[in-house]
Amino acid sequence: MQKPPLWTQKVTRRELLKVGSGLSIGSLLPLSAVSANTLRTQARIVILGGGAAGMAMANRLANRLRGGTITLVEPRETHHYQPGWTLVASGVWNADKTMRPNAQFLPRGVNWIREHAANIDADNKRVALANGATLEYDFLIVATGIQLNYHLIDGMSPALVGQHGIGSVYASIEGASRTHQAIQAWLNSGQGKGIFTAAPTPVKCAGAPLKMTFTTLSRLEASGQRDAFNVDYMAPGTSLFSQPWVDEFVKQRFDEQGVNRRHHYRLSAIDPQAKQAEFTFVGPESEFTSHHQLREAEFRREGQPTVIADYDFIHVVPPHECPRFCQTERAYRARRPVQGRVARCRYSHPAAHPLPRSVWHWRCDWCPDH
Ligand SMILES: Cc1cc2nc3c(=O)[nH]c(=O)nc-3n(C[C@H](O)[C@H](O)[C@H](O)COP(=O)(O)OP(=O)(O)OC[C@H]3O[C@@H](n4cnc5c(N)ncnc54)[C@H](O)[C@@H]3O)c2cc1C
Repeated sequence: MQKPPLWTQKVTRRELLKVGSGLSIGSLLPLSAVSANTLRTQARIVILGGGAAGMAMANRLANRLRGGTITLVEPRETHHYQPGWTLVASGVWNADKTMRPNAQFLPRGVNWIREHAANIDADNKRVALANGATLEYDFLIVATGIQLNYHLIDGMSPALVGQHGIGSVYASIEGASRTHQAIQAWLNSGQGKGIFTAAPTPVKCAGAPLKMTFTTLSRLEASGQRDAFNVDYMAPGTSLFSQPWVDEFVKQRFDEQGVNRRHHYRLSAIDPQAKQAEFTFVGPESEFTSHHQLREAEFRREGQPTVIADYDFIHVVPPHECPRFCQTERAYRARRPVQGRVARCRYSHPAAHPLPRSVWHWRCDWCPDH
């Protein structure tokens, strides 16, 4: 027998989260029953950001809610499939394959505002848009992705990607294409040193620095001149990946494929003209491999030892951070729970970033009772 619709007079935040995250009982039911498992609501739901997370939420909520309004704030016309960027940078995919019109994914009945969100006023449940307009909400979903802080690497800017042997696959599809060109130029030179870096922060794809190293190694090996190239990997920590078995596997493969690993260093500065990179020691204990090929420098930076390395190609992974406009929002800085409970963002210090109950940040860990 078909399950009767779950009609409610008022959607609670818990119910909304269940619908949005697919945790409701409906996710365990056959399709015919799932369609009946809807919620009636008058709620005004605003979603900031229409990337993978925001667009997925818009679709799920549009399917499962009856009544209310869903408004998506997304300035871009085009959806970018970011996992494809490593394949573009490696020459496996064409850039076009990673782009589709956002309109193709927008569910019927969702209002799309092509604008940037500028500020969240969580106390008054309002979002200010860059064009000066204001949106009021009952529930807000923040899915604006993550901020890339290239500027924390002295001398570095995304505009440099593709020049002076610099690659970086994180910023954009254009950056991925230019990274491909930089790697190709290095390969064509027939020799030299490539340095692959990782960031000292959580990143949106922890696998991408490793993927770029492996795909480039594969191309070096395919060139038949592997011995003419040196490959270094600079890791901020002891591990290269959070899953221990993956970490172990990657380290083993790197060692087998002649990658010189060095741990507890972050990329702190770059001199594009000289093709030199500065790395700052970040760890409490350094862990050197016996065969590292970096030149030690005598000077120190911010009280920490640094090393300077020459490169012919470098893959730059920028530090990542929670989007700035979320961090500066007054309610976040107030450091107090709103309506009794908070969620905390793992991209900044927990105590500094409590999220009000009515705000759901896609990238946040939830309290145990959620
Ligand atoms: C090179 C690379 C490889 C990856 N590989 C993998 C992989 O193999 N597997 C995997 O699971 N994940 C992978 N990822 C991670 C995955 O792509 C991201 O986790 C995912 O795209 C995040 O989705 P999101 O919606 O949170 O953010 P995004 O996709 O970045 O979307 C954020 C959206 O918010 C919009 N926006 C930004 N600011 C505002 C604002 N102020 N107002 C309104 N809208 C705004 C942007 O225009 C954008 O559309 C990879 C990422 C990269 C970069």
